[in-house]
Amino acid sequence: MFLDPVLGLFSTDLAIDLGTVNTLVWVRGKGIVVNEPSVVALSTNGKDNNKVLAVGNAAKVMLGRTPANVSAIRPLKDGVIADFKIAEIMLRHFIRKAHNRSTVVRPRVIVCVPSSITQVEKRAVREAAEAAGAREVFFIEEAMAAAIGAGLPITEPLGSMVVDIGGGTTEVAVISLAGIVYSKSVRVGGDMMDEAIIQYIKQKYNLLIGESSAELIKVTVGDARGAEKIEQMQIKGRDLVSGIPKIIGMDSDEVREAISDQVKEIVEAVKYSLEQIPPELAADVVERGIVLTGGGALLKNLDKLLQEKTELPVIIADEPLSSVVIGTGKALESGDTFTNVLI
Ligand code: ADP
Ligand code: MG
Repeated sequence: MFLDPVLGLFSTDLAIDLGTVNTLVWVRGKGIVVNEPSVVALSTNGKDNNKVLAVGNAAKVMLGRTPANVSAIRPLKDGVIADFKIAEIMLRHFIRKAHNRSTVVRPRVIVCVPSSITQVEKRAVREAAEAAGAREVFFIEEAMAAAIGAGLPITEPLGSMVVDIGGGTTEVAVISLAGIVYSKSVRVGGDMMDEAIIQYIKQKYNLLIGESSAELIKVTVGDARGAEKIEQMQIKGRDLVSGIPKIIGMDSDEVREAISDQVKEIVEAVKYSLEQIPPELAADVVERGIVLTGGGALLKNLDKLLQEKTELPVIIADEPLSSVVIGTGKALESGDTFTNVLI
């Protein structure tokens, strides 16, 4: 059994948040030791074909900047593995890095997975983790991990609503008595906002920008609701008419407009969920509010917008980008407390 008191103390045990955008690894007793983009750069050269050039941070820098013989690949899409081989390579790299050695350690790992995951997709995660060196693989639902990581009282007979906004998906869940009572996943998140910003700039300014630039714009002057103070930043791209590089200014109000469809979808998913849950739990949520996790929770004024639209308190978790791995790590270290949340 996983939490056997004797077996329970292997210092090599890991908790992994295998995210569409970021992968985080927690080592028992140490906390978060890896926090890097889920990206792998491969050579596509004849003789070096498929040689791994970089993983994580080093590979992300290459996104959109790769010469013809290099490709930077993100092995996850919408929260599940889209490229099995690359996911395995990435996991092996991060597991080694977590243990800071190249010798073989075969850790037991807990990986969090979206509640909407299919059996086939789940088996892919298990097999990728095993191929990457894991001795045993356990699962926890992402929403549960996010709620534990955000410090919500998940084992109590109280409804807690958590909304995790990641790169590929937004997961809305209500948890009570250590179980997921309600969950809804929509395929909208940070990636689609970046894409919308690219399209907006293309249409309005005839300027082509890359994914990384779009993300930088969102993070720097992005706004979900419209700011009291309009901020501006300069963006470099390629002019689609002249073909040469050009700089334009873009402000927070334009970003708000660019990502309004995605933001609206997130708001709708939350409102829909509130309508679907049993009245007793809805009453708990009214009283205790909605907790936001995931990188999307950091989009400026998204919390305020959700608060206005739902008329409920909305709280951003302390470290939204780490909530899921912190929760998974706590489940790993908790002894019996969270045994029943593993699936
Ligand atoms: P995943 O779990 O899918 O890997 P994360 O929870 O790590 O996703 O969140 C990554 C997403 O959060 C990315 O789309 C990133 O651009 C977005 N993000 C991070 N910081 C901010 C910010 N300050 N404002 C808006 N979006 C942000
Ligand atoms: Mg996530």
